[in-house]
Amino acid sequence: MIVDCHCHAGLGDGLTGPWDTEARLDRYLTRAAAAGIDRTVLFAAFHSDYAVANRAVARIVATQPDRFFGFAFVHAARDAGRVDTLVREAVEGHGFVGIKVHRYDARITREVCDVARAHSLPVLYDVMGEVSVVELLAREYPDVAFVIPHLGSFADDWSAQIAFVHQLARHANVFTDTSAVRRFDLLEDAVRRAGAHKVLFGSDGPWLHPGIELEKIRLLGLAPTEEARVVGKNVLQLVARVGRRPLPPALPVALPREVPAVPDPWLARESAPL
Ligand SMILES: [Zn+2]
Repeated sequence: MIVDCHCHAGLGDGLTGPWDTEARLDRYLTRAAAAGIDRTVLFAAFHSDYAVANRAVARIVATQPDRFFGFAFVHAARDAGRVDTLVREAVEGHGFVGIKVHRYDARITREVCDVARAHSLPVLYDVMGEVSVVELLAREYPDVAFVIPHLGSFADDWSAQIAFVHQLARHANVFTDTSAVRRFDLLEDAVRRAGAHKVLFGSDGPWLHPGIELEKIRLLGLAPTEEARVVGKNVLQLVARVGRRPLPPALPVALPREVPAVPDPWLARESAPL
């Protein structure tokens, strides 16, 4: 069973780029079928109203409920105070099995994490290179599974990805997806250090080619049982809301000698002009 854990679907209502304009699935589905991908996790493109966008994704999921999983997209700031309402509609009304949050919209909040915990949902949070928050998420919400896509940076921020691999290895509830990761050595390092059970195949379709992204997993040359985990078993375990098993314990890894540099809002404030 091959499951793509990261694919956008539907139309955005912006006009900045594909990411907020269109995520049509026709090309994706042809490519995914050719690559042997059986199932796909879908969530919206960037949108000004995720209640609307999530319903549109729900309609797509409903066309092939055995083919798609839905994740509810949430804007952590704009949807403040109504995250539970949004997620509840998506879960109870549409059978969605996860939450998607992107720092491009707003940083993740306790409200989002509390809702994820209450509904036993994994959270796919794009930190956009700001990996320091993973320390807080992992410790404050040890019973919530966080999938940090792109090894922490779609933009190939090498230092962020290096720091994130360490977090991936240390925290039992932190996972990653392989979508858009270009530095192959880092991908190898992630699997070697954190374990195949922490890495999920994702494509970031329809904008990236799912066949190319899947081939990256093949090229890792994993043992068949490990590859099976990465390409599908891991995400299926995360979204199996019934009969969830406790998260596996983290692998023992030595602490880093240096803490990665992160922007400190207090320092920024001090240096800001009056
Ligand atoms: Zn994406």
